[in-house]
Amino acid sequence: MSESSILQCNEVTVAFDGFKAIQGMSLHLRKGELRFLIGPNGAGKTTMLDVICGKVKPTAGTVTFKQSIDIAKKKEHQIAELGIGRKFQAPSIFPSMTVFENLEIAMRQKRGVFTVLFARMKAEERERIERQLEMIGLQDKADWRAGGLSHGEKQWLEIGMMLLQEPEVLLLDEPVAGMTDKETDKTGELLIEIARQRSIVVVEHDMEFVRNFASKVTVMHEGKLLKEGSMEEVQGDDRVAEVYLGK
Ligand code: ADP
Repeated sequence: MSESSILQCNEVTVAFDGFKAIQGMSLHLRKGELRFLIGPNGAGKTTMLDVICGKVKPTAGTVTFKQSIDIAKKKEHQIAELGIGRKFQAPSIFPSMTVFENLEIAMRQKRGVFTVLFARMKAEERERIERQLEMIGLQDKADWRAGGLSHGEKQWLEIGMMLLQEPEVLLLDEPVAGMTDKETDKTGELLIEIARQRSIVVVEHDMEFVRNFASKVTVMHEGKLLKEGSMEEVQGDDRVAEVYLGK
């Protein structure tokens, strides 16, 4: 196991009432890696994220976080506390509160658990939020009601909220779905910036986005690993072309 390994899923199988949604799937993630998980509908991508965050328990296989923590049997909230954050497609923000307040609430939740609620904000906490606002490009909209943001901005706000909880691994489900081209590019740049410090797994259908921002891609098909490598390697693979890219 390499020293820079942060997450290792080995030979994971998931069966729903006997139907194997995932069969012997392995996924190894290094620290600071931005990994794209692609594949046709029903390939098992979302289920794989569900396994990592503890929403779904594998019927076989192991999931190891930070080289020694066996998380396959841990509860979802325990996995969140350990530092694995999950973002679903629909943003879960508080629409009637301001952007700043949303970030403040997130900062006070340490990985899903409220620590100090409505405590007076210290100057360094305010600065942390301001830095976060800048990173997600919403510094001019701190006082906006979150419900009034564009679709893309809501997604960035939610990513900012996740980051304030300091996850080491972020799991993102189609983060650019419904975004404009400009928002999509901005999101790609944001993910690259985040991956300087953290590791990210992105389930994605938007192949142009993947082409533009992926350095390493994992392709799943029928619950199994079909191919892993650079976008060029993946695109040049006949089996991938056959099942997924429609060539
Ligand atoms: P993808 O994200 O690649 O589209 P999913 O992980 O959502 O694929 O689904 C993989 C397979 O598992 C699909 O055939 C899907 O119908 C099935 N599946 C997913 N979740 C459940 C569930 N909770 N119960 C039964 N079958 C499920």
